[in-house]
Amino acid sequence: MPEAGSRSLQEIASCIAGYDPRALPVAQAKEFIDRLVPRVQSAEMVALRSALGRVLARDVISGIDVPAQDNSAMDGYALRGSELAADADTVLQVAGAGFAGGRFEGDVGERQCVRIMTGAVMPSGLDTVVPQEFVAVEDDRIRIPAGIVHAGDNRRLAGEDLARGAVALAAGRRLRPADLGMLASLGHAEVAVLRRLRVAFFSTGDELRSVGEALEPGCVYDSNRYTLWAMLQRLGVDVIDMGVVRDDPEALEATFAAAARDADAVITSGGVSVGEADHTKLVMARLGDVLFWRIAMRPGRPMAIGRIESEGHTAVLFGLPGNPVAVMVTFYALVRDALLTMSGATAEPLLMLRAASVEPIRKRPGRTEYQRAVVSRRPDGRSEVRITGSQGSGILRSMSESNGLVVLAHEQGNVDAGAEVDVLPFDGLV
Ligand code: AMP
Ligand code: MG
Repeated sequence: MPEAGSRSLQEIASCIAGYDPRALPVAQAKEFIDRLVPRVQSAEMVALRSALGRVLARDVISGIDVPAQDNSAMDGYALRGSELAADADTVLQVAGAGFAGGRFEGDVGERQCVRIMTGAVMPSGLDTVVPQEFVAVEDDRIRIPAGIVHAGDNRRLAGEDLARGAVALAAGRRLRPADLGMLASLGHAEVAVLRRLRVAFFSTGDELRSVGEALEPGCVYDSNRYTLWAMLQRLGVDVIDMGVVRDDPEALEATFAAAARDADAVITSGGVSVGEADHTKLVMARLGDVLFWRIAMRPGRPMAIGRIESEGHTAVLFGLPGNPVAVMVTFYALVRDALLTMSGATAEPLLMLRAASVEPIRKRPGRTEYQRAVVSRRPDGRSEVRITGSQGSGILRSMSESNGLVVLAHEQGNVDAGAEVDVLPFDGLV
């Protein structure tokens, strides 16, 4: 459960077994963050088509049976299963017809059946449907070959999709296409969702120029604000772009303070590496509580985690490294799940694939490594993965050219060619 507000960051750290801020395993960093972050509480009603990707505020209880009545799953003939002969043809007389949205209301006598369409309500007393392509029609009779259909076949039972009174969707669910369809099938035009998380972000560094500005010698264009913006879009949060901030304590403090006032989470890139952290440390210490970590991961390593309280509002700070690949990897490894938790979403661990590594991979035990890679399916149906060329944490092209990350666990050592490794595919990641 969240402990924000009640304990200092140091106190939270003291609850985590083996906490060492200079070589913090990814799993412990995640545990710390989960203990730190508060969850959004306030809800709003939105129309179904505005609810995709939003987090459900309350359980949705089915007020009706879906389907409301037993109905046919096929175009064919409804009959009594008890009248099917076990080892001879069954011949039944057609008493009438029922169409989708309606029901045959006449009497169905012994050895009679009813022509029925998919979705039509089952006439009373009939429990089985034989598909039309299985029968021979002879005037007003049908002939059903033995063994082709059994009692209860091709009938959808009332409430088999959603039973009245059951939890159709649980609070904390991030709504997907099928969920919108389920809500519609229950007759809901609107749904209660949690308010969107507000996330502010900015880049720090005197060498950074924004696109559109001239690039002076020694400068680089700020790319992190674009990758961060895009990754945040995929999470469905509201984003507040605060631009580039110079390596200047006053400018930093003003931007941190404004961001923390407006947002639930503040994400920065740059300024947390050993050479630069002092600056950020001073500013953050004036505004709130902050810890500087060296995480046992590659790429990534330096990261700041903090909390700023202003007028009863808490903002959580994620200070990411400046290198473009490190920003993306730390975001996926540590920030994504935290933002979903803060949004009120129930945790959904990312699905990993297992794939055979085409080549040997060098790996040192004692840190989690995330290597950019291309995963593909071989003709035999198995997956294989190839690490992409240059793995430098400043080389954004390595992310762009890959379709997933090979994740090598903390304790793991070198990987032999042909051995299976975990792969986090990018498709569907956020
Ligand atoms: P820092 O963590 O601030 O020491 O930055 C590490 C490296 O990442 C430096 O080479 C920076 O120029 C680069 N860098 C930092 N921020 C950005 C950014 N927003 N866009 C592109 N590169 C960046
Ligand atoms: Mg910098």
